[in-house]
Amino acid sequence: MNLVSKVRETAVTQPNKAAYHFMGKDTSYAEFDQSVSMFASALQDLGVEKGDHVAFLLGNTPHFLISLYATMRIGATAIPVNPIYTPDEISYIIHNSDAKAVIALDLLLPLVEQAAGAFPSVEHYIICETVPETPAKLAALPEDLKQKVHSFSGLIATGKPNVEPVDVDGNETAIILYTSGTTGQPKGAMLTHTNIYSNARDIADYLGFSADDRVVATLPVFHVFALSVVVNAPLLTGATVLLQPRFSPAEVFKLVKEQKATVFAGVPTMYNFLYQYPDGKTEDFESVRLSISGGSSLPVSLLHDFEEKFDVRISEGYGLSEASPVTCFNPLDRDRIPGSIGTDIVNVENKVVNELGEDVKDGEVGELVVRGPNVMKGYYKMPEETEATIRNGWLYTGDMARRDENGYFYIVDRKKDLIIVGGYNVYPREVEEVLFAHRDIIEAAVVGVPDPDLGEEVLAFVVLKEGTSLTKAEVLTYCAARLAKYKIPKHIHFLDELPKNTTGKILKRSLKDLATI
Ligand code: AMP
Repeated sequence: MNLVSKVRETAVTQPNKAAYHFMGKDTSYAEFDQSVSMFASALQDLGVEKGDHVAFLLGNTPHFLISLYATMRIGATAIPVNPIYTPDEISYIIHNSDAKAVIALDLLLPLVEQAAGAFPSVEHYIICETVPETPAKLAALPEDLKQKVHSFSGLIATGKPNVEPVDVDGNETAIILYTSGTTGQPKGAMLTHTNIYSNARDIADYLGFSADDRVVATLPVFHVFALSVVVNAPLLTGATVLLQPRFSPAEVFKLVKEQKATVFAGVPTMYNFLYQYPDGKTEDFESVRLSISGGSSLPVSLLHDFEEKFDVRISEGYGLSEASPVTCFNPLDRDRIPGSIGTDIVNVENKVVNELGEDVKDGEVGELVVRGPNVMKGYYKMPEETEATIRNGWLYTGDMARRDENGYFYIVDRKKDLIIVGGYNVYPREVEEVLFAHRDIIEAAVVGVPDPDLGEEVLAFVVLKEGTSLTKAEVLTYCAARLAKYKIPKHIHFLDELPKNTTGKILKRSLKDLATI
């Protein structure tokens, strides 16, 4: 069984059930399956075959879902890329991934026109129409480009409705996800059909997804969290994906209410925005049975505030691209522990090890390592990086963690973000949690900066709630009452907002750059 066959099964057993909802319109499983088949056959007609690579520069529109399932259906490998990466980043990934075809949103057409000759491996560009002007622009392309640049809807129209899926082995690569990892250039994590199917199935089981669920997909679908939790897991259970083009608190509340969403998944930044939104009311989340947080640590004070305001229970999980992604999740009932990422999900083992790879005692901090059917095959064309990351069958996550005696794990911080002040370890997360708990602070991030005496010092970036006016001295006095002396920030910078990537993660590297200016 794999994701493609699961969706085909639902198209037969529940043809009229909505697979997804987008911009006010439902698409049934039967219609979805038909579009997938037609696009799959159009890709084959272009010469895309089993084992070929297809890069997606797509956001949260149906084009993504159709492209993903069509690519898997013909046994090719999908490479979802953030469409708003810089041209250099996109170009690196397209080169490195040896993509044979690129499927892109129409807003990238100018880039495609410029770059069409630049990538030797790419034979075809497929442009997805999202604005009315695009067909005319495609029609006006010079003849030589027209051989290479096609319209998504034009191709689908030429496809065949009942194309049989190409046989694939579970160990073949279904998706390559480029992740910035801890250092250097992005690396392509190769996830097999078994990796992605097993993780989506295990999450769906763990979270009790059923065909009655209506799952908000406002997280960017090219990122592994969304891909598994709000796309693949619901689709394999016959649930409905509520696809939202971009995140905004007003739009989320509207969608949840109108579509009676039952599951909401977000990164902590989204929970913060929803919580701060002045018009958000308890009843706005009435239909939601389950709220999920992941991607970075959810400040405990925010978890409590959000739960109280919206009368929901948030369950935090943890994962990374290399593990397809989920490895740990909190139970959904009272046993969930704020500040913890929960326990092993079924089939997956987590443990904490020291520098030598030996298990540490419960309560001690070390690196989190993971084993299970969800762990990637390796990094594409990077055997040395693969060997350094998967050792003795365990995936080294680069995250520091501890485990308690009941099997709950706690992420302390990323290994590379550790700050060493005069020989003492400071994990930014601990300082950030303290800052975040201040009622006038809405965002906080902490980085290390060089210090001539102590090696490093703690610098805190703080965003204040509108209408408040904390001084640096007040922040320091507040911290002094709650943190050991060496953990108290030496410098405080006030910002209007923190730099974040499209998945809502705070860009520590940009903050470090800011710190040195
Ligand atoms: P990505 O591969 O982009 O999904 O990023 C994975 C990284 O996100 C992990 O290695 C962690 O550093 C971080 N992460 C994911 N979930 C959590 C969480 N619940 N708490 C803390 N960090 C997290």
